[in-house]
Amino acid sequence: MTQNTQPRTPLRARLSDAISYAISHGITVSQTKDSRSGTALTHAPFTLNPSPLPVEAHAHALGITKPLNDLVVAIANDYPYLRKVLAETANADRHFTGRLMQLLDVAERRPDRILLSICRYDYFVNEPQHDQSSTPLRMVEMNCIAASFASLATRTSSLHRHLASLPSITTTATITPNLPPNEPDKGLARGMSVARHRYEALYKTTNPTIAVVVVQPGERNSFDQDILRFQLWDDHRLQMVRLTLAQISELGSVDAEGRMWVNLEDREELSEVSVVYFRAGYTPDDYPSETEWRARELIESSVAAKCPSVAMQLVGTKKVQQVLDRDGEVEKFIGNEFAGDIRATFAGQYSLAEDEDGEKHAFMAIDRPADFVLKPQREGGGNNLYGDEMKKELLRMSAEERSAYVLMERIRPVIVKNVLVREGLYEEKDIVSEFGVYGVYVGVDGKQVENYVAGTLLRSKAAEKDDGGVAAGVAVLDSPVLVD
Ligand code: ADP
Ligand code: MG
Repeated sequence: MTQNTQPRTPLRARLSDAISYAISHGITVSQTKDSRSGTALTHAPFTLNPSPLPVEAHAHALGITKPLNDLVVAIANDYPYLRKVLAETANADRHFTGRLMQLLDVAERRPDRILLSICRYDYFVNEPQHDQSSTPLRMVEMNCIAASFASLATRTSSLHRHLASLPSITTTATITPNLPPNEPDKGLARGMSVARHRYEALYKTTNPTIAVVVVQPGERNSFDQDILRFQLWDDHRLQMVRLTLAQISELGSVDAEGRMWVNLEDREELSEVSVVYFRAGYTPDDYPSETEWRARELIESSVAAKCPSVAMQLVGTKKVQQVLDRDGEVEKFIGNEFAGDIRATFAGQYSLAEDEDGEKHAFMAIDRPADFVLKPQREGGGNNLYGDEMKKELLRMSAEERSAYVLMERIRPVIVKNVLVREGLYEEKDIVSEFGVYGVYVGVDGKQVENYVAGTLLRSKAAEKDDGGVAAGVAVLDSPVLVD
């Protein structure tokens, strides 16, 4: 039997192995929004093979992660800067960015002594012909709230390592691909554990504190969160409890000293919360009523380590990222040496605010709609506008409406082939990959305690798709194979 006459057979065997590996190692999502009981699950979508990433781009992205952590922390501590940069955007996006900005006042009344930051910096690798600069990496965005998939990324790296180690049916040559080690789940858990111990020392707690993970009701990606939850207990003996904002509003309180407590069903006494880890709260949909905003305010008024604080969430807005692209802006916060390496990854970003040449920039995109992406102050994928749709919206919007958005130069990432596996079905496609690096930072009283690269995530999507993440059903989990 040759590969040519039976091309599908080796692929089928590999696929069936891969799907079984995924399900038996927790690369899983709930099948529907309401099936959190854990029975109706499927494998998370993934690529059959790792996708190539230039070794130099991988090293560059890892190398700028600690300086990027320094950068986001410095901005999160600079409330006047955030207020100035976001003033017009908050006005145009009153019900979300505006509400978050109001919470800065609450946060200011009790400055954070413990800072826990888990961000993910996402990049494309530019097509060489579009690129004259020192690195082909282009930053897509910084995620400063609810950067997900650390647990599933860890396991997707293991899946690809497992598949690569299997004896090949088509060749006897042993080629060991360069699959870098990757355990971001452990890195995230470690940061939370450090923040908890710092909290307990600083506030001299008598009983072990708990962590709260703020979740959306009906989360399909709950296994990614639960793996972290189990890891926190098994490796660090930190209990993490899942609560929605509505539940926090009902069960939570903050005392005169700022300590946050929750009234858990299975406990006789209130539990003190040292860490609040947000996997919700990044979209207006997470605040359907004032109840949820009250919960957010309660958390913000406490001394618990918030991952992120509202200030850090605001650092991750598209508007702040657009402003950082201005000459000299990154350099306001960190040394020139690292600023240059960070800046080398920036794609052009343009303000749409009236007093910042917004009209001129809007017409630049209207004239060349294929070259730009229009981004609102939203997270989670599927919110950006492209091409003709972008052009139509830009022409329709008032100047004030436009200032809720930013304009970004469209990145043209390298296209490769891979096999996408979704719900047991596979499809060979031209794909593009987005490489993310998790950075963890812990600070106490303004001093750095930890600053490290926790690991990476690779997500790939069909090249013809403009937008969308894994949760949005467009991208799939992948892992990098480093190439020259
Ligand atoms: P979100 O917060 O919704 O994830 P992103 O800025 O990451 O916002 O945009 C979502 C997706 O849109 C990205 O994953 C990427 O596929 C695509 N995208 C974003 N910015 C660009 C860009 N400048 N060029 C090309 N595609 C982009
Ligand atoms: Mg994104």
